[in-house]
Amino acid sequence: MSESTRLNAVRAVTNFNLADRKSKIKDADVKEIFASNVFSDEVQRARLPEAIYKSLQKTIKKGEPLDPNVADVVATAMKEWALEKGATHYTHWFQPMTGLTAEKHDSFVMPTATGKIIMEFGGGELIRGEPDASSFPSGGIRATFEARGYTAWDPSSPAFILDSPNGSTLCIPTAFCSWTGEALDKKTPLLRSIDALSAQAVRILKLFGSSASRVESTCGPEQEYFLIDRNFYFARLDLLNAGRTLFGAKPPKGQEMEDHYFGSIPERVLAFMQEVEHELYKLGVPVKTRHNEVAPAQYEIAPVFEQANVATDHNMLVMETMKRVAQRYGMELILHEKPFAGVNGSGKHVNWSMSDDLGNNLLKPGATPHDNAQFLVFMTAVIRAVHKYSKLLRLAIASASNDHRLGANEAPPAIISVFLGDMLQDIVEQIEKGGAKSTKTGGEMKIGASVLPTLPKDAGDRNRTSPFAFTGNKFEFRAVGSSQSIAGPILVLNAIVAESLDYIATELEKTGKKGEDLNPEIQKLLQKIITEHKAVIFNGDGYSEAWHAEAAKRGLPNRKTAVESLPDFISPESIELFGKYGIFTEREIHARYEILLEGYKKAINIEAQLTAQIAKKQIIPACLRYQTQIAASVAALKGAGVEVPASQLGLLNDLTSTIATLQERVEKLTKVSDHHADGDSLAHATYSRDVVIPAMLSVREAADKLEIMVADDFWPLPTYQEMLFIK
Ligand code: ADP
Ligand code: MG
Repeated sequence: MSESTRLNAVRAVTNFNLADRKSKIKDADVKEIFASNVFSDEVQRARLPEAIYKSLQKTIKKGEPLDPNVADVVATAMKEWALEKGATHYTHWFQPMTGLTAEKHDSFVMPTATGKIIMEFGGGELIRGEPDASSFPSGGIRATFEARGYTAWDPSSPAFILDSPNGSTLCIPTAFCSWTGEALDKKTPLLRSIDALSAQAVRILKLFGSSASRVESTCGPEQEYFLIDRNFYFARLDLLNAGRTLFGAKPPKGQEMEDHYFGSIPERVLAFMQEVEHELYKLGVPVKTRHNEVAPAQYEIAPVFEQANVATDHNMLVMETMKRVAQRYGMELILHEKPFAGVNGSGKHVNWSMSDDLGNNLLKPGATPHDNAQFLVFMTAVIRAVHKYSKLLRLAIASASNDHRLGANEAPPAIISVFLGDMLQDIVEQIEKGGAKSTKTGGEMKIGASVLPTLPKDAGDRNRTSPFAFTGNKFEFRAVGSSQSIAGPILVLNAIVAESLDYIATELEKTGKKGEDLNPEIQKLLQKIITEHKAVIFNGDGYSEAWHAEAAKRGLPNRKTAVESLPDFISPESIELFGKYGIFTEREIHARYEILLEGYKKAINIEAQLTAQIAKKQIIPACLRYQTQIAASVAALKGAGVEVPASQLGLLNDLTSTIATLQERVEKLTKVSDHHADGDSLAHATYSRDVVIPAMLSVREAADKLEIMVADDFWPLPTYQEMLFIK
């Protein structure tokens, strides 16, 4: 018998030599390299005529439409800059509904009449590209109109240069739309939601006498991930094709020793992190924090927050850069929400706030009664939004892979609630009672008359079980999956908060009052809003059974799986909300709904096929070989006239019957996954969830049992123990 791929993998891992990747990055000057590959504000200022620079800044900072005359000049400056940096090609970089990024490279090369070439790049090429859209998910939008889509320059996210070993490419962040103007990507609706939020937030600021003219949502995503040796990865077809393990018995040691979180970072991993940071610094991504996470082989990277659109592009770059760099260190980056059963999965804490163009964080409690009043209005708007539209927030994080996490006693539950912390909770209660005396602060909270006590900043860390927590000066949406684009969750937040701010602004504007006189009106309105929406506030243990019962009593929805959640997208209230603020047309919503359901079904289908394939081609053959060996040993004893011990016969019997069970279950799985449910996409997804997933789990159960029975040198798949602990 040839040696198992698994044992070969183990040996190859221990041969990895870190010294081979001694890096030149060690002596790099971080200040020097930061944003060195970005067509940044500084570069623009230095290279563009002043009038052009100013016009471009208006588009970037104020969201004003781009002056077409500007594009040609910018393109020329951008080209010269990129050529100096060694770029030979440019690409429109966009984020189709695959959840990944897409790029098609064109060179600057243009042949001349004399048989030579010149390097060319004009405003036309900068502003618009025409990738063939027919191979990207469109949910039916494209099919009925035009196959072609176009990419449109997004000046609010800076262009950058990606270096690769044999050259460099100028990447231009773009939105991706159909010819009829429908969004086919993640960026377009995000940009629309930022504008919607800005318009409504500015109305509120105006009531408080502010001169701000633009509000941005800000975001800092904390990204969790796993790293395992590539030798293991290639020996696990499930990881390779589905991003998660579909088999694997629980190892003797998991995460119960609690010895990994914030533990010392393994040398190879640290070297990887340092190279990742180096690459990201060049791209102007302000990565700041790195540490071990709770599960073995799990880590986190977090940047300093940025404007939401840039933060979204940067998070895509973080994921892609990590993927690339990991391979240089003989490791594979795993972004799936639940790559290993039995240990923690990975999420992405999306820290979110709003900031005006005067530099104020609108969720930062102020030091004066006036600032407090404004803070409490924005805070209350968020509470109302999350309560009123909790189904849409749940929907923004719905996927087959995130279903493994939500509600699985490690990540926040699928019930969306808001955590405020003791102090803010107390303040909210006082507002509700109309300014009653507080037991906690001794004071009385009257809007416009009193100063808030200083709120503790670390409130959120005391409650990791809440999906949506206020953490001092921002909210932290913790239920987002590690592999998801943050565009969706942010756009939903922006949209629902815009609607709340709209409501509040309209109510307050109606009173016709201003300045000090407005305070009693605010007091009354916030009191009403809190009374109506306080049901969403929950400061207790989100994992407990008691909370599930309590949440149901409060009427909070509990969409346990993506299949239950996705239909909320096409609900009248969703269509009304997104339509009202120009974020999605009804057609776009229906298209995306189809794409999401389709994605769910395909993910389960791939997993089902892989489960059957691995069981049939790897696990069962190994088990049969082992069975033959035991049978031979039993026969040998018999032949030698030695009584065969019952324990050995028992082993053989157990093995034989478990193999038979596994075979039966594989057959059943094949049958159910070949069957096509009648009905629409929702019926298909429901069938996948209710029939295919259980069939898959039952195959796994029998196979995992065999993993424990079969001799180590026969077992074909790298084990959990090996993948998680050999570093
Ligand atoms: P932790 O949540 O682990 O305690 P921090 O509170 O320091 O860590 O920050 C977590 C993330 O929140 C960081 O990416 C940080 O930049 C981001 N953050 C801080 N302030 C804001 C804000 N106003 N808007 C959005 N994100 C923010
Ligand atoms: Mg955090």
